[in-house]
Amino acid sequence: MTTSDTLEAKPFGGHKPAPATLDFLATRHGLLIDGVWTESAKGERIETVDPATGLVIASVAAGDASDIDRAVAAARRAFEGAWGRTTGAERSRLLTKLAQLIARDADLFFELEILDNGMPAALSRMIVDGAVDLIDYYAGAARRIEGTTTASPEHLVAFGGEALTYTTREAVGVVGQIIPWNVPLSMACLKLAPALAAGCAVVLKPAEETPLSTLHLGKLIQEAGFPNGVVNVVNGRGETAGAALVAHPDVDKIAFTGSTEVGRLIVREAATTMKKVSLELGGKSPVVVFPDADLDLAGPGVAMATFFLQGQNCMAGTRIFVHEKIHDALVERIKAFAGAMKVGHGLDPTNQFGPLISAGHRARVLQRIEEAKASGAELVLGGAPLDRPGFFVPPTIFTRTRPDMKVWREEIFGPVMSIQTFGDEDLDALARRVNDSPFGLSGSVWTRDLSTAHRMAARIRSGHVSINCHGAVASNIPFGGYKESGWGREFGREGLDLYLETKAVTARL
Ligand code: NAD
Repeated sequence: MTTSDTLEAKPFGGHKPAPATLDFLATRHGLLIDGVWTESAKGERIETVDPATGLVIASVAAGDASDIDRAVAAARRAFEGAWGRTTGAERSRLLTKLAQLIARDADLFFELEILDNGMPAALSRMIVDGAVDLIDYYAGAARRIEGTTTASPEHLVAFGGEALTYTTREAVGVVGQIIPWNVPLSMACLKLAPALAAGCAVVLKPAEETPLSTLHLGKLIQEAGFPNGVVNVVNGRGETAGAALVAHPDVDKIAFTGSTEVGRLIVREAATTMKKVSLELGGKSPVVVFPDADLDLAGPGVAMATFFLQGQNCMAGTRIFVHEKIHDALVERIKAFAGAMKVGHGLDPTNQFGPLISAGHRARVLQRIEEAKASGAELVLGGAPLDRPGFFVPPTIFTRTRPDMKVWREEIFGPVMSIQTFGDEDLDALARRVNDSPFGLSGSVWTRDLSTAHRMAARIRSGHVSINCHGAVASNIPFGGYKESGWGREFGREGLDLYLETKAVTARL
């Protein structure tokens, strides 16, 4: 592993953000409620930290239940007013404008994501381009919201009558959206775009660690011309603002991305008001490498399945099943690739591996690493914090792990890979081991054999399986979890369905 940064904590790691970024960071940011940027009712604020330095870079207003109340009321007024009567084409034009504005401000988003989240530059560029594509995709989808015609009830037709039955799709209503910190701009766009395409009004709560890009997105939503109250952004803590949004009786639906633990709380609370709920939760995804795999492809590919975004990635492939014949050769290649990743501040575009999100998260990940060592897993790479400012933990690989070990079973959400081998068992027996997890979000299969690839893909109990790559998601490809990884699918056509009700109309003519 190589590093380019100094050992003292210098603001921005010694790099120079653009003047527009510095202006943004110096601004006193409020909450967006009913088209107005406002302080929170209690005047509370949250400081946000650059995880690559540990230094505070900005402060934002932190809302609580009373701010959520105001935001929900504004969303309700918007939904019951002119916004609720807009056509798909009108919403499509607004979304297209928003995509253009994000593209215009791409450089600002690029730096804000790096500074707020700690991600490497190449990833931040991908996230910003992906955000534009996602908004564009749902701008198109807004024009294609369609119902069906269907046979009418026989008892109406039986008496010689004529009847007509058709379905329409209608917006769910006021939606509360709660997102995590790992890819903040993607998460905000993935929540907002389909909801706005469908015609919902939204109260969005970003993660307390990474509010910045969503605040700028809020400004662009205003500039694009969305009416006041259609999108409200209320930063705040999960236990206060988040919980108030979930409990609010005038919210029709909660769309949540985050941990399975908080997902469970949300489901329990939503039962009280019978809100609709969609959930994108945790994962511990399998990566299965067959003996005929192209190891020059699989080495870097498997390494990135785990270490992409420092492993803070719901799709991360962290349970590696490798055929015993190629175990040593694959581990060598993964080690060589991961060990050579350049670690440091994302504002240096040559760095490939950044920090974890916070000191608290780093401490949790390091504790898991110590537990894995104590349980007898064999450490192959990493395993100790880096002696430098910021919250860095290097790529860490354990092999010879067992199915009962915590490092193998639990989501760590950090750069920790666990490896086990398999022999010549048949695909069904292997699939039982692969599926022995409470999660089912992603997974990948590495082989040159077409038949093995598709037969294994069919056996993996996950919402998304990649072949000879990992986590290949895109705006049009549905993504979501089996088992404890969630309810529903985001992205694509199914992502829009999350925000639509179906109404059947039957007329006796
Ligand atoms: P988290 O569950 O702690 O927090 C997510 C969001 O929920 C934050 O905005 C937080 O403020 C809010 N929240 C916390 N407590 C709440 C409560 N009681 N009521 C309402 N809201 C509350 O998760 P995190 O640490 O921010 O993110 C990491 C988790 O997210 C991982 O488990 C990861 O797998 C998951 N994730 C899943 C996907 C996916 O698409 N499936 C994508 C990204 C992250």
